Amino acid sequence: MNNKIWLSSPHLTGEEQKYVKEAFDTNWVAPLGPNVNGLEEDICKYTGAKSCSALSSGTAAIHLSLIMLGVEKGDEVICSSFTFSATANPIRYQQAIPIFVDSESQTWNMSPELLEEAIVDRLSSGSKPKAIILVHLYGMPAKMEELMAISEKYEIPVIEDAAEALGSKYRDQPMGTFSDYGIFSFNGNKIITTSGGGALVSKNTEICKKATFLATQARDQAPHYQHSEIGYNYRMSNIIAGIGRGQMEVLDDRVISRRKNFEFYKKELSEFTDIHFVEESEGFYANRWLTTILTDSFETREEIRLSLEKDNIESRPLWKPMHLQPVFKGFPVYSDGTSEDFFNRGLCLPSGSNLTTNELNRVVSKLKSTL
Ligand SMILES: *Cc1c(COP(=O)(O)O)cnc(C)c1O
Repeated sequence: MNNKIWLSSPHLTGEEQKYVKEAFDTNWVAPLGPNVNGLEEDICKYTGAKSCSALSSGTAAIHLSLIMLGVEKGDEVICSSFTFSATANPIRYQQAIPIFVDSESQTWNMSPELLEEAIVDRLSSGSKPKAIILVHLYGMPAKMEELMAISEKYEIPVIEDAAEALGSKYRDQPMGTFSDYGIFSFNGNKIITTSGGGALVSKNTEICKKATFLATQARDQAPHYQHSEIGYNYRMSNIIAGIGRGQMEVLDDRVISRRKNFEFYKKELSEFTDIHFVEESEGFYANRWLTTILTDSFETREEIRLSLEKDNIESRPLWKPMHLQPVFKGFPVYSDGTSEDFFNRGLCLPSGSNLTTNELNRVVSKLKSTL
């Protein structure tokens, strides 16, 4: 049997251990310490965000954002449908109502037209959505100019789920920095990892301060333990922040490797005119977290996926849209069928920054023989 080729596996450098060892050596083994502060500074420096709160996950960052925006039971929150469930779950933690909006076909992200249609329709039925959670899927920036204009026009704040888009840019501006709430994830298969973790970034220092406060059980200033608000245990530990510091040193290299994977697949498969890639329009710069393709049909997609699987190569269908998920059945959706169509005939190809030339060649020759 050939070696397993993974979709996207952790890619460590060894430098992470220096920071982790420091944490042990100085006994900073807690959800605070120099690595946590250092990682927050590294993220601010990299993205240009004014402030950062390092958290236990990207999901926690979305949850805290909703809390800080005052989202409560029965409130409506607009959300990209074409995404991972972690984007939408925190809406339900607050017992709020997700309003799903479909994608446009250029970036695969929230359609500005459908977003405006959704807002107008919600307003006409008497409820104003409290927030818009939009996603940069697979690292491709959403159409930020159009989307942010709608957010401003209707005065509905945006939470930018940039969990897959650390290192991506729109008109030279890093993703995650377009609104007051940008979220990143450092889960195991993301472009860089801390094994598990996340962060909230903001232009507004007060927002990250408040997030850190809520993430550490909302403890008032007092010598004893006193609480005036419900808090959470969402802070990042100083050990794993050490992994993050090592990973931030190589983030640019990781982006370059993943973009190279994309170019390689695109070139090698150029003879197959039924296979489509997501292109970067002018002003869009994707980290190419995962290389994705659209085939001509569900059957072709499955044929490719299964033949790769037989050769011990992991590939995966695209995210199943949230409005088609059993757990979100019955919630409002504004859709023109785009994400459902993509889900049916799209595939994520092995995209790790640690793939060897041999491994990439193995994937491509399998793809070619199947097609
Ligand atoms: C990974 C991911 C998240 C969640 O991040 P965690 O750190 O795993 O909680 C949220 N949204 C998207 C789009 C993701 O891909």
